[in-house]
Amino acid sequence: MMDNLMKLAREAEDRMEPRFKELDRMAEDNQWKVIRAFQKFRVSDFHFNGSTGYGYNDRGREVLDLVYADVFGAEAALVRPHFASGTHTISCALFGLLRPGDELLYVTGRPYDTLHKVIGKPGDGTGSLQDFGIGYREAALTPEGEVDWEQAERLIGPQTKVIGIQRSRGYDWRASFTVERIGEMIRRIKAIKPDVLVFVDNCYGEFTERLEPTQVGADLIAGSLIKNPGGGLAATGGYVAGTAAAVQAASYRLTAPGIGGEVGAMLDTLRAMYQGLFLAPHMVGQALKGSVLAAGLFERLGFETSPRWDEPRTDLIQAIRFGRPEALTAFVQGIQAAAAVDSHVVPEAWDMPGYEHPVIMAAGSFIQGGSLELSADAPIREPYIAYMQGGLTYAHVKLGLLQSLERLAKQDIIVM
Ligand SMILES: *Cc1c(COP(=O)(O)O)cnc(C)c1O
Repeated sequence: MMDNLMKLAREAEDRMEPRFKELDRMAEDNQWKVIRAFQKFRVSDFHFNGSTGYGYNDRGREVLDLVYADVFGAEAALVRPHFASGTHTISCALFGLLRPGDELLYVTGRPYDTLHKVIGKPGDGTGSLQDFGIGYREAALTPEGEVDWEQAERLIGPQTKVIGIQRSRGYDWRASFTVERIGEMIRRIKAIKPDVLVFVDNCYGEFTERLEPTQVGADLIAGSLIKNPGGGLAATGGYVAGTAAAVQAASYRLTAPGIGGEVGAMLDTLRAMYQGLFLAPHMVGQALKGSVLAAGLFERLGFETSPRWDEPRTDLIQAIRFGRPEALTAFVQGIQAAAAVDSHVVPEAWDMPGYEHPVIMAAGSFIQGGSLELSADAPIREPYIAYMQGGLTYAHVKLGLLQSLERLAKQDIIVM
C-alpha cells in the first residue's frame, strides 16, 4: 500500500512542478525583501540582547519594529512577545481604534471564531467591544464568497469608524481574499467613506504573496508570531503594522495610554523573533508547497478541496471536505502521527476555549499551537472539513499526507 501511495505522491509532484517553481520564486523575492530590511537598519548581534525591567531604550526592540514596518511597507509596526496570541493582538488593534459610540463593520462575513467574544454583546459584562458601547455590524458574504457591496454600503453609516477585513478563510469554506482583492475593497470603501479606517486581520497571510495589505491601503493589520512571520522560531507574540497613529493606538491598549511601545522588556525573545522573520519567507514557501500537494492528492482521490491545487493562494490554509466524521478524524490523526513531536499521542475532539464546536487538532509542534508548523484542525460539524496548515519543511508535510492516506486506505475510505 505504501508503494502505491508513494507513486501517487510522485505523480502529483510531477504535475505540480510549475506551481512549485512559482512558489519558490515568490519565497525568494520575499527572502530578499526581508534581508534588505535587516541591512537597511544595520541589524547587529547586539540587537538580540533583550532588556529587563521596563525595557527602556531597548534598541533591539526598536529596530525590530522598524524592520517589520519596512517589510510590510508600513509607516510603523509594533512587534511584541507581550501580545499573547493573534486574538489578543487583534483585540488591542480594535480597542485601540474604536471608542464608545463608534461602529465596527466587518465586510467579509463572520470573523474568526475567537473574535466573537471580543466583539461580544451589549451589556454582556465581559468588557467586550459591544459591552463598552461600540457598535458592531457585519455584511455576510454572497453565496459565491464575495463581499456583498449592496449590503455593505447600506451598513456604512455616520458611526462607522473601522471596517474589518479578514484575509484568510479561517474555519470557513470560502476563498481567502488576495492582497489585490483587498486593495480593491479598500479603494471602494474609501470612496464611500474616506475617513473610515480599514483594519485587516492578516493572520496566516504573511509572505504568501509578494505584497501585504498595508501596501494596498490598509490602515492597520495584525497577526500572530506563532503563525507565518515568526518563522517557526518565535516562541510567542504578535505584531501590528500600519499608519503611525493606528499603531500607537494599538500600543496604548497593549500597555497603557501614554506608554505604548516605549516600555516592555523583551527578555530573551529577540533573537528568535529576528531569526524567525529571516526564515519566514522560506518556511511559508515550504508550507505552501505542502498545501498544494495536499490539494492535488485529495482532488485526485475525489475529495473537494479549497483552494484547489492550481488556484491562487493568499494564506496557509488548505481545506479538504471529508463529508463524514471518521474520515476527518483519520486524516487529522495521520497528520499527528507524522510529527517529530508528540507523534505517539492520538488527537481527539475537545471543547477548546473560544470555539463554539468541539475541535480536533493535530499539533505535534515545537511551539505549543504553532501553526506555521504542520497542523490540522477541524471543528466537528457538517460537512466535516479539515483545515490543514503549515509545515516547516515540505518533506514533513508530504510524510503527514502519506500517513493520513494510509489510515484512510486502511479504513476503506479510499481505495489504494
Ligand atoms: C489564528 C487566527 C486568529 C486568532 O489567532 P490566535 O493566535 O489563535 O488567537 C484570528 N484570525 C485568523 C484569520 C486566524 O487565522
